[in-house]
Amino acid sequence: MGRRFEPCRGRQAQIVTDACSVQEEATALGIRCYTLLDATPSTVTLTHGTNVLLGDLEIALKRYEAAIEAWKRIETQNPEFLALVADRLINAYKQLNKAPEGLNLLRGYLSKYSSLDVLNVVFTCVLEQQGAEPAYELVRDEMRRSPTLLGLDKLLEAQLLETPVQRRADLELVKNLVHQHTRTLAMYRCENCGFRARQYYWHCPACGEWETYSPRRAEEKELPA
Ligand SMILES: [Zn+2]
Repeated sequence: MGRRFEPCRGRQAQIVTDACSVQEEATALGIRCYTLLDATPSTVTLTHGTNVLLGDLEIALKRYEAAIEAWKRIETQNPEFLALVADRLINAYKQLNKAPEGLNLLRGYLSKYSSLDVLNVVFTCVLEQQGAEPAYELVRDEMRRSPTLLGLDKLLEAQLLETPVQRRADLELVKNLVHQHTRTLAMYRCENCGFRARQYYWHCPACGEWETYSPRRAEEKELPA
């Protein structure tokens, strides 16, 4: 188990921690401190994607606008992490009855930073707000820009929506086949030990290292940026 112990240095604007002992130190230094777990033996200060967690904490307090502001700042910190919050962002906008505004924001992110997770969320929103045809066009254009098997999976899903019932069976067969093959491509991978996981981890359950997962899916990692 290799863990880093980070003392409070008094320079942080906010601290996200998984240990309650840090709270006392943070309080003494007058730093805002968020504790993620009730109790743990050590403290780790995350260096990447901290605003992902800050947004989650705002959501827990039902402060949707504050959550959106926290997540938007990810763009200037490390835009790769926007992939982790795309669905959370749109849900926060929906809570504020501003779904079209959320969709505009995410379309902007998608055009700047190609991401399968952002594409998935934008696809669902376009489908809800504008219908099957624009949703299909979105995925088709994105596939031309960045062809991946995961994108193809999405494209076939979009195509199925537009296909007459009597011609659906063949396409469904192809889609299911592609989907089977993309299951492992859609995983997150620990850069320290190679462990693959369906969910994103800050703390690898296999090797115990912190922040060793890229927010990009395995297939995306192998593509040129
Ligand atoms: Zn690992």
